[in-house]
Amino acid sequence: MKLGEDVDLELLATRTSGLTGADLANLVNEAALMAARNNRQAILMADFEVAFERVLVGLEKRSRVLNPIERQTVAYHEVGHALVGALMTGRGKVEKISIVPRGVGALGYTLQMPDEDRFLMIEDEIRGQIATLLGGRAAESVVFGKVSTGASDDIQKATNLAEKAITLYGMSDTLGPIAFASNQSQFLEGDTNTRRAVSGNVSTEIDRLIKETIDGANSMAKAILEQNRELLESTTQILLDREVLEGESLRIILRQIQAPAGLADWLQSRKASV
Ligand code: ZN
Repeated sequence: MKLGEDVDLELLATRTSGLTGADLANLVNEAALMAARNNRQAILMADFEVAFERVLVGLEKRSRVLNPIERQTVAYHEVGHALVGALMTGRGKVEKISIVPRGVGALGYTLQMPDEDRFLMIEDEIRGQIATLLGGRAAESVVFGKVSTGASDDIQKATNLAEKAITLYGMSDTLGPIAFASNQSQFLEGDTNTRRAVSGNVSTEIDRLIKETIDGANSMAKAILEQNRELLESTTQILLDREVLEGESLRIILRQIQAPAGLADWLQSRKASV
């Protein structure tokens, strides 16, 4: 098995930044299997793309049938992530939205590809990422006035990120650049965030700031979706019809999003609230 001529190694390197060695081995393996299945001697870029989704979100599970309400909820949720994510900087472009169930728990997913290698995140990017993570839930609440259980993983990730920004990266005015979390365990368990022993006052302030950051990002995500309500509706309808949105048809949609008045200020300000 060899690499096809269309394989862009630089692009591949960018897209796989952040994957572990095991993920990479898995990715190449899946891509080679795709090529073999199609009786090809070389792995093409398209094989890597299919493999990438498999490694990242798991295998398609078309047998998992959702009822119409669930399917609609998932569609609004994913479009919510995509619309909010499209207005944020740093995390790369939204490249695909799908409501084909995959893997163990994903009922739908939104794929954001890094467009360059990133090792550092700036404050406004963290803020944008938190808002994007909450975008799915925000869409459910804007449309239905209530939320499903499908957003628990998003909330977990958003809260972890807010906590890290405050306790590990020193991104708060009141607490300043003091590390309140020990990052030693990161090497062993990835995302574990162990707080250093702090006084009750500091601990209360950390909790307050996390809540303020999450509330602010949530309000911003909702403001974006309320302002783009028609686009949210029309895109969800298209997604329900086609199951997958990507490429030029997705780009045309995402280009129509309008930023609410306070977005730029909120991204730049150091205030946690909106
Ligand atoms: Zn989600």
